Amino acid sequence: MKKIYLDNASTTSIRPEVVQEMTKVLLEDFGNPSSTHSFGRGAKVLVESARKSIAKQINAAASEIIFTSCGTEANNWILRSCVRDLKIERIITSKIEHHAVLHTAEMLIKEYNIQVDYVNVKPNGEIDFTDLVELLSQNKKTLVSLMHVNNEIGTVLNLEKAVRITHDYNALFHTDTVQSIGKTEIDVQKIPVDFLVASAHKFHGPKGVGFAYVKKNSGLQSMIYGGEQEKGLRAGTEAVHQIVGMAKALELSYENLTTERIHISELKKYIIGRLEIDFPDFKINGEETFYNILNVNLPLSEEKTSMLLFHLDMKGIAVSRGSACQSGSIKPSHVLAEILDNEEVKKPNLRISFSHYNTKEDVDALMEALKSI
Ligand code: PLP
Repeated sequence: MKKIYLDNASTTSIRPEVVQEMTKVLLEDFGNPSSTHSFGRGAKVLVESARKSIAKQINAAASEIIFTSCGTEANNWILRSCVRDLKIERIITSKIEHHAVLHTAEMLIKEYNIQVDYVNVKPNGEIDFTDLVELLSQNKKTLVSLMHVNNEIGTVLNLEKAVRITHDYNALFHTDTVQSIGKTEIDVQKIPVDFLVASAHKFHGPKGVGFAYVKKNSGLQSMIYGGEQEKGLRAGTEAVHQIVGMAKALELSYENLTTERIHISELKKYIIGRLEIDFPDFKINGEETFYNILNVNLPLSEEKTSMLLFHLDMKGIAVSRGSACQSGSIKPSHVLAEILDNEEVKKPNLRISFSHYNTKEDVDALMEALKSI
């Protein structure tokens, strides 16, 4: 049975070229980048070249890229250090953020008694900018944290507008770009966010590594104490092979972006066309969504709904319901709960997310499987 992977918002398969680079590092460049001998210096060169390469992709300075173990860690660090070290008194975020942001903000209320405000989200998944302006007009030291592309429904924030409004009110702007880095152009000179985070496993790199972009002179301090790695901002021996793999994956993503984006966009159009024929009453959640994510409610009966993911899995097809952390649980996704009414949120829901490795045949197989339920 051919297995079909349509869950690329959860994670992506690693590119063979990335594995090759990483294997070389694992076998040949095992030095500790903090060692002063030639083994260490060699490893240090690899880490710093990777930093330069990643910085170049988003038009940042190399010194503004800090390596972390994942996107979650980077989000935790930025929010936490903004409160602890920059004396941020209030975080404005939204109820459709990833839990890496939402749960961190909740902890910061408990620990630091900060204020957290949630900007309104429209039923189409868009952030309500009028409400953002209203919230920002309260005079408090504020960090705005809004994700670029939503991982469940694929709605896209107008980053430029969000940053402009935030800076007009002298607040700081952080964005979770875990779903968009490597899949769309990001230029931190053109759109001057203060912080952003990324995770390699979402752009065909290895798991267990990510990075934060932290604008020069931000004042952030380390959350993890130990050695002087990452200029004292993130202690712990650098995972050289992971970092090199991440830089290679990002480089390849941007090198191939134009063709891969066209291919994936066509697949999305194709599946929407097929859904219109086979399930005419289906509904897309979110409007003007990112090209690799499609979140739909399907007109299926209740008994079929309970079997949906299981049935697809038996046929070797991987899709997801809401976010990966929630699949299998009966709780509705917090994102859908925010944008859908009580009836719609109970309907069977699928998130189909593509990569350039997918084909029209994969879509056909999914459609046939859905019809046979
Ligand atoms: N933010 C978003 C939008 C995500 O989709 C994810 C992954 O699911 C994360 C953060 C967490 O990233 P990581 O898996 O690297 O911790």
